[in-house]
Amino acid sequence: MKQTHDKKGLIVIGGGITGLSTGLTWALNQDVKDNPVLIIEKEPKTGGYVTSYEREGFIFDTCQMIPNLSDILGYLGIDIDLKKFKGYYMRIFLVNPDTDEVKIIELPSGVETFKKWLMETYPREADQIEKFLDYSRSMYLELFDLKVEMGIADILKALVKCPKIVFNGTKTFHNYFSKFKISEPEVKEIFNVFAEFSALPSERVAAVVPISAMNSLLDGTFRPTKGFIELPKKIEERYKSLGGELMLNTKVIDILMENGQVKGVKLESGEEIYSDYVVTTIDPKVAMIDMVGLETLRDLDAKYAKKAEYVKMSTSSINLSIGLDDKIDLAALGLDCGYNVITTGEDSYDRLFDAYEKGEIGFTDKRFHIGVVCPSLTTGGKPNITVRITPMALADWEELRENDYAKYKERKEKWADFFINKVEKYLIPNLREHIVVLDISTPATYARYSGSPTGAIYDMAPYTDNFGRTRLKMRTPVKGLFQPKFVHGVFGCLLAGMQVNDMILEGKIMNGNARYKV
Ligand SMILES: Cc1cc2nc3c(=O)[nH]c(=O)nc-3n(C[C@H](O)[C@H](O)[C@H](O)COP(=O)(O)OP(=O)(O)OC[C@H]3O[C@@H](n4cnc5c(N)ncnc54)[C@H](O)[C@@H]3O)c2cc1C
Repeated sequence: MKQTHDKKGLIVIGGGITGLSTGLTWALNQDVKDNPVLIIEKEPKTGGYVTSYEREGFIFDTCQMIPNLSDILGYLGIDIDLKKFKGYYMRIFLVNPDTDEVKIIELPSGVETFKKWLMETYPREADQIEKFLDYSRSMYLELFDLKVEMGIADILKALVKCPKIVFNGTKTFHNYFSKFKISEPEVKEIFNVFAEFSALPSERVAAVVPISAMNSLLDGTFRPTKGFIELPKKIEERYKSLGGELMLNTKVIDILMENGQVKGVKLESGEEIYSDYVVTTIDPKVAMIDMVGLETLRDLDAKYAKKAEYVKMSTSSINLSIGLDDKIDLAALGLDCGYNVITTGEDSYDRLFDAYEKGEIGFTDKRFHIGVVCPSLTTGGKPNITVRITPMALADWEELRENDYAKYKERKEKWADFFINKVEKYLIPNLREHIVVLDISTPATYARYSGSPTGAIYDMAPYTDNFGRTRLKMRTPVKGLFQPKFVHGVFGCLLAGMQVNDMILEGKIMNGNARYKV
């Protein structure tokens, strides 16, 4: 056993957005000379899934949009230039696969504008639409009064202050939406698309998740003008300026414990680093099952162990980053908007999800659901688009990549071809002629990069029995070990890093609240 480091106040495993936010919040609230904080990251740079990469002069981002983060970034002391999407927030290309007819539905930004537009476009159900949107807005605002860890008194308070969340907390979005008796098929399609943003069908996802995503994104959707890499870069700079320590290219292989108390971590090099507080931000299955171990967890808390064993992770993805020549007029195609979804609608996502659950790919000419974003029209740079496809299972992608690279390449190119055909047919005519660079990420890419055994891109999936009060809790049964991993997306990750410090500091930062209030 080697030890070359002093004992730390806090060790953070993983330097993605959750890890960076955790480390920075600690550095902001502790004297790091007495209580040093160390982030350990296996890759040569921080950011995890939030990154930008260069291919033949084109800069691509993994992430595509974030809600207004100004409160949190203000707290963290991060100044970052963000560009707001104007005009349409989203366009849905609803394809009838039998006739090839396409209905384009354009959703304007802004909560009130969106509401007015929906009510005017679908006047027959204007009352129900208004009720649905108002109720959902008010449920979303209740989140600001919710506590992360609820004792009996908090539960009683929640009944008064957050009744809509309490009442709908275990409902799927489908059940929740049905209550409002909206029958217009197009309106259903619109809200199902919001549900599918969380990469679960509306019949599976906890209602609160799409409601929050819809409200926060309608309030304002942004992307960093200099690429998403700016986010981790700026947080890392600030963290280091406050004395935070960072080890890159360093893999944690074990979490050290003694008598139910965390003691530190063991690195791949064999070195051990000690601390009474460890925050893990890597895949929960790896941390809880491989590192802590189910037996240890069972001895401490059988219920938690069971939850950790069966926790459901989110889907993986195929992502096409496409660099284009400058002869293409993307603005004329209306691509200067937040997000485009090309979908065969109805139960397409449910059926794609059924296939995903069996480890299969359910996309066919008659059934697809594809996201298309054009970053260059928002934040400049050489013309490019990103095509995002979920749900995708890891299945044998990784095995193929390792054992038969030629076959792996052939398969990923086949699927890239399939999705490019659809984008060309329904959104960008002659797309293929303009392609200069094509970079294809598969579930194997995401698994390799993040260290998640399933290549999950959105952390734990927000099924009703895997989210909210039924989620795998942030405070683990191992004393001093925390796992702030339960809300996917940049916003949730930044917030989780603050929440976990709030827990350690007994409410000093957010008073135990789920949301940060200035
Ligand atoms: C293609 C894609 C598009 C997305 N689009 C959006 C979007 O538009 N908007 C949005 O808000 N969110 C989006 N997300 C989700 C968002 O990026 C993630 O929710 C978020 O980045 C997760 O951050 P994290 O720090 O919790 O985890 P990660 O980013 O996975 O970070 C974990 C870190 O831990 C490191 N690590 C793993 N194992 C070890 C180990 N044993 N030792 C040391 N280090 C280790 C990893 O290298 C990684 O850096 C997207 C994700 C993907 C993949």
